[in-house]
Amino acid sequence: MKEVEIAIVGGGPAGLSAAGIALQAKAGVLLIDDGLRLGGQLVKQTHKFFGSKEQYASTRGIEIGRILEKGLEGYPNLEVWLNSSVVGYYPDGVLTVLKEEKLLKVKPKRLIVATGASERMLAFANNDLPGVYGAGAVQTLMNLYGVLPGKRALMVGAGNIGLIVSYQLLQAGVKVEAVVEAMPKVGGYWVHAAKLKRIGVPILTSHTILKAEGEDWVEGAIICPLNEDFKPIEAAQKRVEVDIICLAVGLSPLSELLWQAGCRMKYIPQLGGYAPFRNRDMETTVKGVWVAGDSAGVEEASTAMVEGRIAGLAATSSLGYEVEDTDGLKRELREELEMLRRGPVGETVRKGVKRALI
Ligand SMILES: Cc1cc2nc3c(=O)[nH]c(=O)nc-3n(C[C@H](O)[C@H](O)[C@H](O)COP(=O)(O)OP(=O)(O)OC[C@H]3O[C@@H](n4cnc5c(N)ncnc54)[C@H](O)[C@@H]3O)c2cc1C
Repeated sequence: MKEVEIAIVGGGPAGLSAAGIALQAKAGVLLIDDGLRLGGQLVKQTHKFFGSKEQYASTRGIEIGRILEKGLEGYPNLEVWLNSSVVGYYPDGVLTVLKEEKLLKVKPKRLIVATGASERMLAFANNDLPGVYGAGAVQTLMNLYGVLPGKRALMVGAGNIGLIVSYQLLQAGVKVEAVVEAMPKVGGYWVHAAKLKRIGVPILTSHTILKAEGEDWVEGAIICPLNEDFKPIEAAQKRVEVDIICLAVGLSPLSELLWQAGCRMKYIPQLGGYAPFRNRDMETTVKGVWVAGDSAGVEEASTAMVEGRIAGLAATSSLGYEVEDTDGLKRELREELEMLRRGPVGETVRKGVKRALI
C-alpha cells in the first residue's frame, strides 16, 4: 500500500496544472497517467490553440503539454507513474492501479480526478468494420505514431474536432472526400471550416452516414441528406469511395472513478453527459475528492488548466499547505474561468456548469 498526500489521476492539461500548483505549495504528489507520456490530448494536437494569452493561445497543443510538463521538473515531492491505469476506487479511499502488469494499491489523503473524456460512437449499419475510427484515434495514429489510417476519408461531424482532424488528414496526404454534419450549420469555429472550404472539401450540413460498406474493412460509405425532422431522405442517398470513416460526434466525461467514489452525478447534456456535482473549488460531493477538466464536463484545454489549478489549490490547502496569497489566487482563477466562458460560445457550458454547482 503506497500512501501519498495527493493522487492525481490523469496527466492532461487539468492534471498537470493541478500538480503544478500542489508542488509549488510543497505537497507530495503522485501523478498517474495511462499514456506513455504526459500531456493527455495535448500530445497529439499539432494545431495552434485559441483562447487567451494566459492559456497559451497561438501555441501548438503539443508545445503547451511540454511547457506544463517542464513546470513540474525538479520537484522532489513529485512522483509520476506512466503507462499506469487507475482501475478502481474503493470505499476505504484506496485506488488500485494497473502498472507493469501488477495491481498496486495507493491510499491518497486527497484525490483529484482529471481523467478527461471519451469519444462517442454513432449507430449506423456496419459501424464495427475496421476503418471506422473515432477522430481522437485518427489523431493518435497520425500525430503520435506517424501512421496513416488510410487514403480517403469521410469525416462525420463538423464541430471543431471534426474540422481540425479533417485538416490534419489533408496535411498528412489523405483525401477528405466530404465532411457530413447532421445539424443545418457548422458547429465549429468558422476559421477551421474555411481552411477546408478553401481546399475544396465539401462540408455537407443536414447530412448523415447511413452505412459503412465493405467485406473485411471499409471500402465506402452511404451518406444521405436529412429533412427538417432529422429523418434521412433515402431517395437522395449516395455512395462515397472511402477507406476511413472518422467519427467526430462529441465527447462524454470519463467519470467511472467518480461513480465508484460515490459522487453525486447528474446527466447534463451541456457538459457532454454524466457530470459530478461540485462546489466552486471543484470539490465533489465526496469529501476529499476533486475533479477538473473534461471529466467535470467537456470543454477546452484552457478551462481544464484553470480548473486544475483551482482543484490543486483547494486540495493542497485542505492539507494545510499554502501558496502566497491563496485567497487572492483563488479569486483570480475563478475570474479567469468566468472570462473564458463569456460570450455566446460559452453559453452552453455556462448553463451546464450552473446545473452542476452545489
Ligand atoms: C481535435 C481536438 C482539438 C482541440 N482543440 C482545442 C483548442 O484549440 N483549444 C482548447 O483549449 N482545447 C482544445 N481541445 C480540447 C482539449 O484537448 C481538452 O479539453 C483537454 O485536453 C482536456 O484536458 P483534461 O486534462 O481534462 O483531459 P485529457 O487531456 O483528456 O487528459 C486526461 C488524461 O487522463 C488519462 N486517463 C484517463 N483515465 C485514466 C485512468 N483511469 N488511469 C490513468 N490515466 C487515465 C488519459 O489517458 C489522459 O492522458 C481539442 C480537443 C480535440 C480532441
